Formats: sequence, structure tokens, C-alpha cells
Amino acid sequence: MNQVSDRLHHVFKIQSQHKWVNKVSTAEQRIEKLLKLKAVVQSREDDVVQALHADLRKDAEGARSEATPIYGEVDQALAELSNWMTPIEADPTPFIGNRAKIMPESRGVVLLFSPWNYPFALLFQPLVSIIAAGNCALVKPNELAPHVSKLAAEIINEVFDEKDVAVFEGGIDLANEMLDLPIDHIFFTGSPAVGKIIMTAAAKHLASITLELGGKNPVIVDRTADLQTSAATIAAFRNINNGQVCLCPENVWVPEEMAEEFMAIVQGTFQAMFYTDGKLNPDTNGKIIDERNYQRVKGYIDDAREKGATVICGGEGDPELRSIHPTIMTNVPENATIMSEETFGPILNIFTYKEVDEAITHIQQQPKPLALYIFTNDDDFSEMILSKTSSGGVTVNNCLMHVAVPGMPFGGVNSSGIGAYHGIYGFKELSHQRSILFM
Ligand code: NAD
Repeated sequence: MNQVSDRLHHVFKIQSQHKWVNKVSTAEQRIEKLLKLKAVVQSREDDVVQALHADLRKDAEGARSEATPIYGEVDQALAELSNWMTPIEADPTPFIGNRAKIMPESRGVVLLFSPWNYPFALLFQPLVSIIAAGNCALVKPNELAPHVSKLAAEIINEVFDEKDVAVFEGGIDLANEMLDLPIDHIFFTGSPAVGKIIMTAAAKHLASITLELGGKNPVIVDRTADLQTSAATIAAFRNINNGQVCLCPENVWVPEEMAEEFMAIVQGTFQAMFYTDGKLNPDTNGKIIDERNYQRVKGYIDDAREKGATVICGGEGDPELRSIHPTIMTNVPENATIMSEETFGPILNIFTYKEVDEAITHIQQQPKPLALYIFTNDDDFSEMILSKTSSGGVTVNNCLMHVAVPGMPFGGVNSSGIGAYHGIYGFKELSHQRSILFM
């Protein structure tokens, strides 16, 4: 065994004992840890900005927006944790005259893996729920964002004793070694393909799991929608972080008579937001995380074009910036690779419909997405779409925004994820609800 391996096994042993201490920790003790985490993240915010620029060319605002939800999670725990932790009296029927309660208890040792596209927020946000619920954690930041990984490790080492939270930096070999441990719970954010590997590994020890995965998010534009606002919004959100966002809109369904105008507005928005003097602007276009992913995204366009798709705009990469031009494709055939793979790049596939049932049938036949977006001015239309589809979450007349509501659970469904978090939902996800009957 090498040094990392030795340390991993040593820390796991210590945490496996210490989880019994954390299980009975008070709300005050947990909050003390969370406030320390918040303070250290706040004091390192400039380093967060630098690390996210180095790994993904995020601008300062985008980078700081990775810290904000962490503070929000801590503040919510500060206000609510003792309520969340209070056991609920339960109806003891049929044992009338006896007492029953449901008590949330920590799961134990949690393994936490994060993705590279929001490598800071999606490491520390789940960590807040893990700590609030009284767990220990073994944390692996994402190796494809090395500057953030190093910074995250420094922060964790400064805030936590390793019996509570220990960080291990590394790639797939390390991930596999961690997955071999008889862990209590795995919290994984990443791709559906690796999600299956995680689920298989969890099965070996019957660990519980939270899988926060991705997918292809559909958009339905109704005839009553404000076309200008809908198209401009969809265009802007498609190219955040150069399209590397799990919630980005991807397959857009537009009434056929509106499609031409819709695409013209999208194209105009791309130009206005992401180009200067006809050239991709490095300040507003994120960097594709690595060469493999750059080639992967470019490959989707080349493959679709070869199979008959029409590229309306974009379609090329800028190797110097390692960005893909915001792209619109139409007539994408079913056998194009992009039809079955999550793009994770700035490509909008436009489909047209005469009757909206064509769009609904297509969406019903695909794996359930992480998000669905509906643009309409008709409440009956949105209710009808909601009743005939499934997705992790929905925003009507905008994109992504439902993730920012702290009082709602965030997660996918089936192929886009299992379980959910944020606020009380994160606390519950990282707790076991224990039923206790006193006789
Ligand atoms: P990924 O699945 O490639 O990697 C995530 C983690 O798994 C990393 O820590 C990595 O080291 C580990 N890993 C990778 N391959 C492995 C293997 N073969 N065996 C064991 N572990 C392995 O995901 P990613 O590329 O970092 O992130 C992009 C994906 O994450 C996209 O699918 C995106 O939609 C999804 N995502 C989801 C959310 C969400 O909240 N639902 C948020 C962001 C990203």
C-alpha cells in the first residue's frame, strides 16, 4: 500500500469510531463547525475566484456565485437545525397509550465526490448537509479542476479535524479505492455513466446513496410565449460556463411557424453576449475543462453534421481559448450521437412541432431529465406539460432558477439522479429516519 492508501484506511478507521460521537452531537456543536467553514471560505473568496479562473476561466461574479449558496446553506442550518433535529412524536396506533417517535439520526461515514463544472460549490454545499446531519466525511474533490481541488483541500484541512472531515486528492484510482471501503453513505455528483459505477460499488456494502446526475434538459416553447424573451433567455443560459452546466437547456421544441424567428433571436443574443468584433470573447466564454472534453463536444457537432444535421451558427471550436462557439443545430437525426449523450457544451438542438404532443411523446421516450423548461403565457399549457412529463425540477418562463430556491429539494429522477438536497432536504437526505416505539 502507498502512503495515500495507508492514510485513507487509517482515517476511515478513526471516523468509523468517531461517527458514534458525532451521532449524539448537539445542534450547537454542528453549527460551530459550519460557522468556522463559512468564515474560512469567506476569508479565501479571492483564492476561490483565482482557482475557478485558472480551471474554467470563470469570471469573478461567476466564481463568487459558487461561494454564495454555501453561505446560504450554513445560514439556513443556523436558523433551523435544532428544529430539524427535534424528534417528531408519532401516532402509536394500534399500541394506544404508548409513546412513539421518529428520530433523525446521522448516517455515519459519508463519501463525497464532486464534479468539475462547479467544483467548489458542489463540494461544499453537500458538505454542509453532511455536517448538519452529524456525519463524518471522506471528501474527494474533482481531479479535473486541480486549482480548486488544492484550495478545497487547504480549506478542509484548516477547518476540520480529520476525524470529522478528511480530504483526499486524486483521480479514478483513488475513487475506486475509496469505493471499496464499507462506507455508510455515498454522495456523488457527476455523470450518469459513473453514477452506475457508484451504485454498483454501493451495492457491495449496501451503502445508501445520493446521486446528483445530469442528462439532456428539454425546453418547450408554447405559441403564447413571448418569443423575444424566451429565445434570449434560452440562448444566455445555454452558454453559461461554455455549456458545462447540468441544468443547461439543450433540446428546444418550438412551434414550426415560429422557429425561424426564434433562431434569429438566439443567434443575435449569442453575438451580443459572447462575441466582440465577431470574435469569441474570452471574458464571457468559459473554458472547456480539458482537451478530451473539447474534442468530445466538437465531435458531437461533426458527427451530427455528417449524419445530415444543419448547423445554423457556430459549429466550430476555438482551440486557443479552448471554447466551443455557441451553436444551433436543426434536423438532427435520431442516430446522431448527440441525441443520446449529454452535450455539456454550448449546443442548442432545435426541434419544431405542429402539435405539442409531438414534443411530449419525444420527451416521454427519453431518460428522465434533471430539468424541464416551459415558456408560455397559458397556465393550462404548463399544467398540461407538467402532468405528462417527469424531470428532477422545472422552471416555467426561465431557466435554472428553481435550483436557487432554498426551500425546495434539488435533485434528479432515475437517470438524472436519486435523492435530493438543499436546506432541510439535505438534512433529511443525510439522516436516517429512525422509528422508535416505547412500550
Ligand atoms: P464524472 O462522473 O466523470 O466524475 C465525478 C467523480 O467521479 C470524480 O470525482 C471522478 O474522479 C469520479 N470518477 C470518474 N470516473 C470514475 C470511475 N470510472 N470510477 C470511479 N470514479 C470515477 O463527472 P464529471 O465529468 O466530473 O461531471 C460532469 C457530470 O456531472 C455531468 O453529467 C453533469 O450533468 C453532472 N453534474 C450534475 C450536477 C447535479 O447537481 N445533478 C451538477 C453538476 C454536474
